[in-house]
Amino acid sequence: MDHVIDLRSDTVTRPTEEMRAVMARAEVGDDVFGDDPAVNALQERVAQLLGFPAALFVSSGTQSNLCALLSHCGRGEEYIAGANAHLYSHEGGGAASFGGIQPQPLPHQSDGTLDLSDIEAAVKPDDPHFARTRLLCLENTFGGTVIAPEYLQAATALARKHGLATHLDGARLFNAAVAGGGDPYVGARKIAEHFDSVSVCFSKGLGAPVGSVLLGSPEFIGQAKRWRKALGGGMRQAGVLAAAASYALDHHVHRLADDHANAALFAEILDGVPGLEVGAARTNMVFARPVGGLTTPDLVQRLAARGVLCTAGGPQIRFVFHLDVSKADAERAAVMIRETLAEDAA
Ligand SMILES: *Cc1c(COP(=O)(O)O)cnc(C)c1O
Repeated sequence: MDHVIDLRSDTVTRPTEEMRAVMARAEVGDDVFGDDPAVNALQERVAQLLGFPAALFVSSGTQSNLCALLSHCGRGEEYIAGANAHLYSHEGGGAASFGGIQPQPLPHQSDGTLDLSDIEAAVKPDDPHFARTRLLCLENTFGGTVIAPEYLQAATALARKHGLATHLDGARLFNAAVAGGGDPYVGARKIAEHFDSVSVCFSKGLGAPVGSVLLGSPEFIGQAKRWRKALGGGMRQAGVLAAAASYALDHHVHRLADDHANAALFAEILDGVPGLEVGAARTNMVFARPVGGLTTPDLVQRLAARGVLCTAGGPQIRFVFHLDVSKADAERAAVMIRETLAEDAA
């Protein structure tokens, strides 16, 4: 196969030549001693950019969310999150395993939000029957969907009214900011400002090989740093990785708009194709399901044989657009899907 078009996730990007050059030149030290200049520079920069007093570079989005949950909540306490929130449903139950922290999942509405009255009803009274409710966790983008700023404002205000802290899983914060229009750095800060803590991934659409940054107050980040060490996430010359994240912040934020445009183009080409139900693009993601003879796993397998990789989640197939997918790739993938469905119908 000459060229595989990998639409499984935006985590599959490989560092560019320029990014690798910056990594090779990074000035490093032992970050467990706080001595790594590239890590320190990244932490300071992201903190300033997103309007927080402190930041911590961590190995992954999962570790970032876990450090946040462990720092906000203690044993026997609980956090509220969407039933499909990544930090509840896709992070191995870490908060329960390591912290004795109970999740309180809530159903999502069609726009990805949690109903405010559901949140309010989930906050437990001070009664020994119940876990202590400590934290509200939101995600933006959520399954590619941008959560409305008015909602972020209302939900976090409600949380504060009930004495809860707030955490944003902003793995794709910059996708949300770019989709919002205007200066994406300012946009990201406006989304982040509603929350006590925010996690941002550099290894998704931003194209760095490894790493996330967790943001919060100095006390919170101090606590998160203790947890990071306990979880085995204290890295030494991590500056080679932080340098890649800094490079991504400089060069790969505005271009997320290309991924959104490619996703939209892909969805448009497939719109109305017999045998497939395709939703409108949500930032860098497109969801579709076969409705003819082919099952979802069959279609995923047939496409893989033709060099188009995607993932099935239940009946849905997810296509994710990123740095390593060109406009021509997006078109070619859509055409190959059309051909595959036509072959099956023939
Ligand atoms: C990918 C992802 C994470 C976790 O990131 P990893 O680096 O894969 O651990 C967290 N939240 C969301 C919304 C994600 O998409």
